[in-house]
Amino acid sequence: MNVERVAELVRELLAEIGENPDREGLLKTPERVARVVEYLTSGYRMDIKEVVNGAVFEAFANNMIISRDIEVYSLCEHHMLPFFGRCHIGYIARHKVLGLSKLARIVDCYARRLQIQERLTEQIAEEVLAATDAEGVGVVLECRHLCMMMRGVEKQNSIMTTSSVLGSFRSEAATRAEFLNLLSRTV
Ligand code: ZN
Repeated sequence: MNVERVAELVRELLAEIGENPDREGLLKTPERVARVVEYLTSGYRMDIKEVVNGAVFEAFANNMIISRDIEVYSLCEHHMLPFFGRCHIGYIARHKVLGLSKLARIVDCYARRLQIQERLTEQIAEEVLAATDAEGVGVVLECRHLCMMMRGVEKQNSIMTTSSVLGSFRSEAATRAEFLNLLSRTV
């Protein structure tokens, strides 16, 4: 991404909305916004193989592994406004287990792009499956969307929930139920 070019576009945007890009408070804004945009879209420039690399451990257990409440920050592709919330991931390992921080990095890699929540959920599930060769994977995302909250459509408190289930989480009702049951439990 060309940061200078994006800064230029932000400067034009400021003028277009009726601001004066040369007033003191805004002088460095185009540059700052460009850096933020670069960061929030860095998923496009990440290599998912490198993200996962080195943190897959051999394991022989085949019980369900759950990671709850992984923070998610993404941008909706319709309005380029943030949506954010929590991601819960469950999988049944066959012989590979992922380090906890790597699950979070998988989430970030796909969240730092323009997204819709449904696709983000799907991509996280597919990637966990690919990285671990798990018997089954389940992902649940619970997010609030600023494009709904800031535009006065009276959905300030609504949380959108999406899920994706693969492998045994899809084919076995009991496995899916166990996953959802574990998610609903508070520590
Ligand atoms: Zn939106």
